[in-house]
Amino acid sequence: MPQLQQVTVLGATGSIGSSTLDVISRHPERYQVFALTAHTSINKLKALCLEYRPRFAVVADTADAQRLQSDLRAAGVATDVLAGPQGLCEVAAHPEVDAVMAAIVGAAGLESTMAAVCGGKKILLANKEALVMSGALFMRAVREHGAQLLPIDSEHNAIFQCLPCNYAEGLAPVGVRRILLTASGGPFRNSSYAELERVTPAQACAHPNWSMGQKISVDSATMMNKGLELIEACWLFAARPDQIEVVIHPQSVIHSLVDYVDGSVLAQLGNPDMRTPIAHAMAWPERIASGVAPLDLCALARMDFIAPDFERFACLRLAIAAAQAGGSAPIVLNAANEVAVAAFLQERIRFTQIPQLIEDVLGLERGSQVDSLEGVVEMDQQARQNANAWLSKQSISAGVRA
Ligand code: NAD
Ligand code: MG
Repeated sequence: MPQLQQVTVLGATGSIGSSTLDVISRHPERYQVFALTAHTSINKLKALCLEYRPRFAVVADTADAQRLQSDLRAAGVATDVLAGPQGLCEVAAHPEVDAVMAAIVGAAGLESTMAAVCGGKKILLANKEALVMSGALFMRAVREHGAQLLPIDSEHNAIFQCLPCNYAEGLAPVGVRRILLTASGGPFRNSSYAELERVTPAQACAHPNWSMGQKISVDSATMMNKGLELIEACWLFAARPDQIEVVIHPQSVIHSLVDYVDGSVLAQLGNPDMRTPIAHAMAWPERIASGVAPLDLCALARMDFIAPDFERFACLRLAIAAAQAGGSAPIVLNAANEVAVAAFLQERIRFTQIPQLIEDVLGLERGSQVDSLEGVVEMDQQARQNANAWLSKQSISAGVRA
């Protein structure tokens, strides 16, 4: 009999959160939900609490927490409801928790993910932005606190499956020449720059292969997602940026590949459904059913591979440059991107202005080293201020032109 594991799901109401709960529901003998968290989707969280009856639930706002608490009590559910970032850290690091699914989107997930790391938990890492922002600190904390880090991002989960277990000292000692990081290319893979200028938020969020949250959908459309993933892969697999090559593979069936010095190339394949990497990471080193349909190669019929275009997808170029620069550049890149994506979704800027904003904010960056979590948060805030100042200037000059 497998041992019952207590699981906290940070970001339970999101796309990854839902897929995680789907996998958990299939294996009640292995996993019990300890805590569920949400930001503002209170009704969705309430429904999840009624279904999974966790020990704790966490929401952002104190008044929301009080309302949810009395609703749950009235329904006979014993869940304790906490509020705010402190509550997130508490359920991430709670002594009774075995595994934490880090599935909050963006920099908002940094503190709670780090709390889970410092609690020495099994970290199921979906929140790539946390690792992009705090890479060196994060990896050091994983080692110091004996946490176990398992990648959920489908590409990184694939690479993890294709690497030998002793890759921690770098790729060369284990005979790896390079990592091939696959990208779908997003919905605008074949669009001209003129077409990209007119893209709407609804079009950007309609990914051809994956169903995901809004922010990562826009990141996939700009290919910033692949840039963030390249930085994520450098930290997870002790790789240099030049050891990772991005390849566009529109069918999203090969989730990434590892190229060895003897010419062997290992790949992980599967239908594009996040329940596969989630189930893999949750049960590792064992294997469990995920509910994902078996891959039908004959129905797939063909697989294509194309080199990325760094002109049309400038975000990818900017992210690779930030990976090479290191220090605070990835923090600034990530913060500027979050502000730019939110502004695009609110129709304040055009799709093609996303990389322009990021490039200008990166241009203000002094190349400093950041060696504490407080320093990371400060640098993130500074970059957001610069990005917002960029937006204000933009709307003033747009007003002048009008
Ligand atoms: P989502 O938008 O669907 O869900 C985000 C979750 O985070 C929600 O539960 C929301 O309530 C919570 N949240 C949002 N802002 C918050 C805040 N300020 N404080 C606390 N909680 C907050 O996002 P998603 O698509 O599930 O992505 C989650 C993470 O997983 C992202 O980092 C993304 O890059 C990564 N990821 C997602 C996929 C995917 O297929 N969706 C694949 C790979 C990696
Ligand atoms: Mg991915």
